[in-house]
Amino acid sequence: MLNALTIDVEDYFMVSGFAEIVKYDDWPLFESRIERNTHRILDLFDEHGVQATFFVLGWVAEHYPGLVAEISRRGHELASHSYRHRLAYGLSKREFREDTRASKRILEDISGKVVLGYRAPSYSVTNESLWVLEVLVEEGFSYDSSIFPIRHDRYGIPGFKRFPGKIKNDSGEILEVPLSTVRLLGNNIPIAGGGYLRLFPVSFIEWGIRSLNDREAHPAIVYLHPWELDPGQPKINGSRLSVFRHNLNMRKTYAKLNRLLESFRFGPIREVFADSI
Ligand SMILES: [Zn+2]
Repeated sequence: MLNALTIDVEDYFMVSGFAEIVKYDDWPLFESRIERNTHRILDLFDEHGVQATFFVLGWVAEHYPGLVAEISRRGHELASHSYRHRLAYGLSKREFREDTRASKRILEDISGKVVLGYRAPSYSVTNESLWVLEVLVEEGFSYDSSIFPIRHDRYGIPGFKRFPGKIKNDSGEILEVPLSTVRLLGNNIPIAGGGYLRLFPVSFIEWGIRSLNDREAHPAIVYLHPWELDPGQPKINGSRLSVFRHNLNMRKTYAKLNRLLESFRFGPIREVFADSI
């Protein structure tokens, strides 16, 4: 079974957990690690002969067009992670449309390829912001991968369908590719990305992906950020919870990712769900 491998391309100081401390206007003042960290991922993927979907921030693409061109040149799929990493449910429809349109255009200008996919910053498509999916249809997106069917303080739609499927709305239809969970003791447990991948032992992650593939006959959606493989990044003085979540087990991420690449087959979303896009 081909699983979906996805990378959200943003720098360590752009994350929502630090948005209260690191202002957007100050982004240029921070030491950038995005090129080095993304190259490390690209090299690892080349070693395994694997391709992925890279959800790139428009701001990153504008400042590092060479990096984005290289992601595309190495055969990966480019998709949008918004322009400046604002939570979708904090924006008006008009603000969201302008931000999303800008990010799509920048990526398409650099790569010469049509951008099909979108992932909201911090999975911020919730019950309050489902209108996002209508705007995405209107702006020419074929799929969205922003809904986390779990309970969390910042995101999530707990009762949402756990597996990919088309969603119809007033503007048309779009494929939703929710982030992977396994059912455990009556709960949806996120297993396949980011802080959860860093939190759980790799054997548990492997069990989860196998359970999705073999028992439920669905691909897993794995996600990571380039900063999660960079324990040497400058520390940001955020809230205790944010600092804990951000730095948890960061030294082990690279080895865990490597192990998953050895254990499973992966591809970009446009390939894994080629029949539905
Ligand atoms: Zn993000």
